[in-house]
Amino acid sequence: MTAPEPAGTGPARRGPAGPEPGTAPPAPGRAAPEQLVRAWLTAIHQVCFVPMSRPERQSLMQRFADQLTAAMRSEPFDPSPGHAVGAGLVAADYAAPEVLGRTITVLQTRLLADLGLAGEAAEARLSTLLAELSTGFARALQNRTLDAQELIRAAATAAQAEAERELRASEARYRYAALHDSLTNLPNERLLVNRLRQLLTAPEAARRLGLCCIDLDRFERINDSLGPRVGDRLLVAVTLRLRGLAADLGHLVVRRNSDQFAILIENTNGPEDATKVADRVLAALAKPFHVEGLELTITASAGVVERAAEDATPSSLLQAADVALHWAKADGRNRWRRYEEARNSRDVARYRLSSQIPSAMRKGEFTLAYQPLVQLATGRLAGFEALARWHHPELGVLGADRFVELAEDTGLIVPLGIRLLAEACQTATRWRSRNGTAPPYVSVNLSARQLHQPGLAAEILEVLDRTGLPPTRLQLEITESAAVVVSGGHALSELEALAHRGVRIVIDDFGTGYSNFAYLYSLPVAGIKLASQLLDGLDDQKVGHPILNGLISVCSKLGLSVTAEGVETAGQARALRALGCEVGQGWHFGRPVYADRLGALLRSRKN
Ligand code: C2E
Ligand code: CA
Ligand code: CA
Repeated sequence: MTAPEPAGTGPARRGPAGPEPGTAPPAPGRAAPEQLVRAWLTAIHQVCFVPMSRPERQSLMQRFADQLTAAMRSEPFDPSPGHAVGAGLVAADYAAPEVLGRTITVLQTRLLADLGLAGEAAEARLSTLLAELSTGFARALQNRTLDAQELIRAAATAAQAEAERELRASEARYRYAALHDSLTNLPNERLLVNRLRQLLTAPEAARRLGLCCIDLDRFERINDSLGPRVGDRLLVAVTLRLRGLAADLGHLVVRRNSDQFAILIENTNGPEDATKVADRVLAALAKPFHVEGLELTITASAGVVERAAEDATPSSLLQAADVALHWAKADGRNRWRRYEEARNSRDVARYRLSSQIPSAMRKGEFTLAYQPLVQLATGRLAGFEALARWHHPELGVLGADRFVELAEDTGLIVPLGIRLLAEACQTATRWRSRNGTAPPYVSVNLSARQLHQPGLAAEILEVLDRTGLPPTRLQLEITESAAVVVSGGHALSELEALAHRGVRIVIDDFGTGYSNFAYLYSLPVAGIKLASQLLDGLDDQKVGHPILNGLISVCSKLGLSVTAEGVETAGQARALRALGCEVGQGWHFGRPVYADRLGALLRSRKN
């Protein structure tokens, strides 16, 4: 795969003096400075390896940087090269989401200064350019699965050319071979595209139509473990079932490539006509197959698209069905998904949003809300959990669930997390004790990404030093899944260093993952936070809750504190207290509020 050529008047490559034949000489000041290219390359090379030589990488990145430079200086402003660069990164196999995160960070922090630009207009240009870059990156990622299929198609075309030479003697045989698959005798994708074209252009065109693309889940495992012969026989058996099912309904079945099939559903009256077919297909394939004396059980995933003929082209239908198939796989396989424009735009919007994180950090758009943690036995305030919020200029206040995962995917959670931690510690220094009890602690979420950051402990201890917050007043929450990864890894020593200084570490959302006590032994953990789902159906009117009861008593034997989150009613709070749970958190005790509103809360509670 090659990266796209720069848009505009031609590449502003630096290089030997004098124009190459046929290319325009580089305009003065249009080439990107070398130090920018070097910083960018270093940043992304740390998170993504591509099999290219150093000079190749350098010239590729120089080209991308030149494109961006030219865009920044274009009059009138044209941000479209951003899109091309985003797509180009993916095309060059720089396709990990962290690459986007690093790219945005580097460009956000350096591009203006390196180009000697400043001011609001330049910043606005940069934001637009980065948004374009993220969109290009996101779209290209989505199209990647399709690209892979392009390759297969190209190979098939080459094979056809070969077949053409060999079979020229027999025209009829050739025509059949060109449009059919030799293993299953099913029509191939070429025939499907022909048929679609016919349907969509005929005067008596179908009003609506649907397409269901089917992919066997983990088919390669069958091939690898039982051999290609069994794999082939299984594909033939699958074909028979699909044919039986579709023939009843009069639908065309085709084999697209190795383990991918498609069913064309003509004259639909709405999406259900297509999704019903997907339901039937998945049910039919779920029954065991008997092949070469073996009983094989497989599952399949399907992507469905259904739309009015006037809005469709063969390639847009195939592309939409492929995107939906990709969702079905991503959502856990063994299911179908229907293409929705809204989900597609959401995917793209997520990437656009992530491109805004660094500038939002610079502009101070992130802040923390604090939610009280209350001692169940006494009703006293124990501490506050700090929860991230983004005051987005267009979208309003975004809760953590809207952007934390995004920041984790792109790696931007690392700088954001440490900045929020510092803010939380700073705020907590102002909380005073009352009636001789300990002042409230602050509980900060740490994501898995941060845990794997070398030097994390030193960085956190430095923040504590700087803000003057005693380590014992900081609690760090790590999720169960992150904790599982830690046990044994180098992150363990980071956590140990923190615990040694008195920072409390708790496992967040306990009960949603492995709920395994074994790893708790190996980690310096002071307690657990029960996932709110565990509280479902909990009420002091009903007696007994064996799971909670068991969890809480095991924890108390291990000397671990237990915090329950998502406590919404007084009944739940009483029941938890009766079960011996120490601390509660949830709307019953208070919603998350900003630091400036905490004063009243701190005074009103009898802490
Ligand atoms: P979490 O750590 O499990 O946080 C609890 C979430 O439940 C919060 O949502 C909180 O507002 C909500 N909640 C609190 N009480 C109740 C209740 O009684 N009922 C219900 N239904 N919900 C309640 P939020 O703030 O949207 O945070 C979502 C997740 O984002 C957090 O889950 C945490 O995993 C993550 N997160 C939040 N802030 C940060 C941060 O600064 N860094 C990192 N790494 N992750 C964060
Ligand atoms: Ca938490
Ligand atoms: Ca939690």
